[in-house]
Amino acid sequence: MFTIIFGFLSHFIVDSFAKVTYHTPEPLKEDRFWVSWAIISNGITIIFVVWVILIGQFWFFFWGGFFSILVDIYDWGILRPIQNKGKNSNDESYWKQGYFFHKLIDKIREEVPPFSWLPNWNYERKGVIVELAIIVIFWILVIILLPFVSI
Ligand SMILES: [Zn+2]
Repeated sequence: MFTIIFGFLSHFIVDSFAKVTYHTPEPLKEDRFWVSWAIISNGITIIFVVWVILIGQFWFFFWGGFFSILVDIYDWGILRPIQNKGKNSNDESYWKQGYFFHKLIDKIREEVPPFSWLPNWNYERKGVIVELAIIVIFWILVIILLPFVSI
């Protein structure tokens, strides 16, 4: 139960923090820096998953992760295609009024401290440093907290 609630809530926090990290809305396949970072960050994810399996906590992280991406699955995977039906779909402003959780997330990002104080570095390469720091802090937290929350 804790996993479900925490997984779900963590999505809002992670998406709000993503504001200071290097996340261009569209892939820049021509850009060497973008490509290298895509490889590195995916590599870190794979290493993390392998580590989780090795320490025998796969299902714990699986369910946490599942409920955290449920927000994205619902908004992008279900809501968006439904809105898409029979409409001309490439109008970005049209999307903005529709999707559900991410509208709330956008509001948190822009209006609720401490997130509203964060600069938007989605296009700034220095955002990768912030992201690496978040990953390191998160990983250390996992190591410290795991004995208390694992199933
Ligand atoms: Zn999201």
